Amino acid sequence: MPKINETPAQKMINKNEMALIVNGYQSGAARLLLLDYDGTLVQFDERPEKAVPDNDLFKMLASLAEKEESDVVIISGRRREFLERHFGELPLILIAEHGAWLKSGAGGWKPSATPDTRWKDEIRPLLELYCDRTPGAFIEEKDFSLAWDYRRSDVELASMRAMELKGNLLNMVANRNLGILEGNRVLEIKSLEVSKAKITSYLLSLKDYDFILGMGDDATDEDLFAAIPERGYSIKVGRGSSKARYHVADVASARSLLKKLVET
Ligand SMILES: [Mg+2]
Repeated sequence: MPKINETPAQKMINKNEMALIVNGYQSGAARLLLLDYDGTLVQFDERPEKAVPDNDLFKMLASLAEKEESDVVIISGRRREFLERHFGELPLILIAEHGAWLKSGAGGWKPSATPDTRWKDEIRPLLELYCDRTPGAFIEEKDFSLAWDYRRSDVELASMRAMELKGNLLNMVANRNLGILEGNRVLEIKSLEVSKAKITSYLLSLKDYDFILGMGDDATDEDLFAAIPERGYSIKVGRGSSKARYHVADVASARSLLKKLVET
């Protein structure tokens, strides 16, 4: 009889799998590490501005990225200003707004696509209405998306409102080439031209990587997992069903896995 709490879809990384990953990493001549930020490298925080990288994380990423064989990517839904402020000095590839912006090497930030954003003016009033009806909810405007964030709201009320809002949005996004991303206590409306899957495929097309690892924690990372070829390692942080091959329990385990790679 299966236990109720079992999540058979992905394998928890045990000693054997860890050894497999470490071996793959060690023998990799061209490695690509794709790391989500919030909920993966740092704990989710009710105040997004507080979820800044600590010293340990900063040092670990620096050590990972200094290896000539490795391309280390932070792939996040955050705005590029945030990533630039905290990681701009490190030799990382930075991806902001779920793939809309890319910074690689000395070239500075470049948009990966230039989707139409006129839809924002049509959708913003609906999001504002739901802010009025949901204490604590707020809108975060990004260059190519609008996010309705309810991390500071009462969970029960806001989850109900989010479902309602999503229902209303479905009508509006149809025929506009827009998608609704359901993140951790956030609904985000963005162009379908932009996704973690598309930017990952683009990066994979640049080099013949023989070690590929991707980690993420929420629905927006399913796109990332889907783009990782079968020989790569897709790792979901936390529980819940996922396209990822493996999972680890939490941020601490995700970081200790990366630490093992640094130490090899
Ligand atoms: Mg995340």
